[in-house]
Amino acid sequence: MSASKREIQLHLKGVSVTYGDGHRALQPTHLAVAQGEFLVLLGASGAGKSTLLRSINGLVRPDGGQIEVHGLPGGVVSARNLREHRRRCAMVFQQHHLIGRQTVLANVLMGKLASRGSLASMWPWSRADKLQALAVIERVGLLDKALARADTLSGGQQQRVGIARALVQGPNLLLADEPVASLDPATAQGVLTLLHDICKKDRLTAIVSLHQVNLARLFADRVVGMRQGQVVFEGLPAQLTKDVESLLYARTCTATATSPTESLVPTLVHA
Ligand code: ADP
Repeated sequence: MSASKREIQLHLKGVSVTYGDGHRALQPTHLAVAQGEFLVLLGASGAGKSTLLRSINGLVRPDGGQIEVHGLPGGVVSARNLREHRRRCAMVFQQHHLIGRQTVLANVLMGKLASRGSLASMWPWSRADKLQALAVIERVGLLDKALARADTLSGGQQQRVGIARALVQGPNLLLADEPVASLDPATAQGVLTLLHDICKKDRLTAIVSLHQVNLARLFADRVVGMRQGQVVFEGLPAQLTKDVESLLYARTCTATATSPTESLVPTLVHA
């Protein structure tokens, strides 16, 4: 179902990002994401997927456009709205960003820091916090590892911890930046199945960047393809033809010969 037929959770209106060195990594981008949608971002390394995700959660500041979020009138402009948006927006990273010598439970509890005031962060975790963390650890199938050090876990298990840490935040938007890029194919599919099942069960909106086109076909409600900082494809997984794949993954030096055409953009969502 397209974003326009359901409640819009997130609306990017002409959002662009230019890094400090002057490099424009994201051209003005329009994108509407529906509540409960599982959106996959595809594109070669350097296409701008990470920059797009980071602009959504405020890790990089856009230099143009607006980000509108359901339930936050006025968009992500005021410091208050930005804080609230960040509280509701959880991120799963490729490299997990776990503290290896800490337990799984301690790592997952870190996800609750976003909802704690700075004063409250000085107090120990409450029993309710710990029970909540254990509940999400159980959801990702790692209850028996809750007190194990994170660095004793396999790559797939560590990413499950990364997912649990995001979920404990109680988000309504989940962003995942190449969450399975460093895993072998079978483990990658297992971790993505878990993430997808949880998002669907909780009606959680997700934007997930992936390298693997086959995984996009399996899990995406809709695919957004990027190249050189621009959205060049937007459509259903079934519309991911070989031509689209070539457009997304062709080497940059052939870009002029394969510049995006109307036929490769089945559905464009404009502001
Ligand atoms: P992807 O996630 O698709 O691999 P990125 O968003 O990481 O792409 O990068 C897009 C472009 O922006 C690349 O050319 C990359 O080198 C550049 N880039 C990424 N981060 C920075 C940064 N902090 N400063 C300058 N350029 C950056």
